[in-house]
Amino acid sequence: MQNFKNHLFAGCDSGYEDARYVVFGVPYDGTTTFKPGAREGPCAIREFSWNFETYMPSYDLNFADIPITDLGDIDTSVVAEDVMADVYAMVQEIVRDGKIPVMLGGEHSITTGAVRAVQPDCYVVCDAHLDLRNEFRGTHYNHACTTRRVLEEGIKDIIIVGGRSGTKDQFELAKSLTLYTADEIHKRGMDTVIHEIREAIGKKRVYLSIDADAIDCCLTPGLGTPEPFGLTPQDLRDLIKVVAPQSVAFDYVEVSPFDHGQTATVAAQLVREFVAAHAKFSS
Ligand code: MN
Ligand code: MN
Repeated sequence: MQNFKNHLFAGCDSGYEDARYVVFGVPYDGTTTFKPGAREGPCAIREFSWNFETYMPSYDLNFADIPITDLGDIDTSVVAEDVMADVYAMVQEIVRDGKIPVMLGGEHSITTGAVRAVQPDCYVVCDAHLDLRNEFRGTHYNHACTTRRVLEEGIKDIIIVGGRSGTKDQFELAKSLTLYTADEIHKRGMDTVIHEIREAIGKKRVYLSIDADAIDCCLTPGLGTPEPFGLTPQDLRDLIKVVAPQSVAFDYVEVSPFDHGQTATVAAQLVREFVAAHAKFSS
């Protein structure tokens, strides 16, 4: 019998019952505003996950020894509201079972359903875009509205890292949140910013969302809405290491793998780093 397990994220060999971490994909890009392709993200991230050694020297642990399962992809509707409902139901079940959801996008709109299910104290998002529009192109669930929807869930503690694109109105609204622009991070240094974020999150329950376009598009060009003058993969790696132990849910979204695999490769490794940091350092 042929073995199809390499269609799943490498090293996620636990059954659901035993798993502490639950990977699943949401191949949805129905509200994409510029270049489509994020529906291919989960598949590409999984493909490139097979490139890596299971041993992770910086954590001195074997990724395959961590209890993780990969459930595959949600069967997505074309209707944004239905996708949000499906993501909500999936994440609610995972959290109720005492496990950590690790969601692979798909575009950023899917985060709305997951945050609604998790109801974290604090939302930390790495993103080039503020995503604070109330509505865009006919839906409140457009991927340009995600952080606005999170705010409307009553989550006031929002930290945006790497922001550098949005309307004037969105930047006004962001004054009521914590925004570390990419320019500010370049000026002050990522270490300083990470230290402040660590102090700010304390022991709060954090939802950590990574929009792949937080990283400079010249480094990882597989992006639906690319922006230059951004963060580096190492910046995100350092942040994830500090925020992961306080996180109750994680997603990595907006990988549109029409590049040569750089964006999915970075995504796959950062997903592993999230799980490793959580497994090693969470209490
Ligand atoms: Mn976004
Ligand atoms: Mn973005």
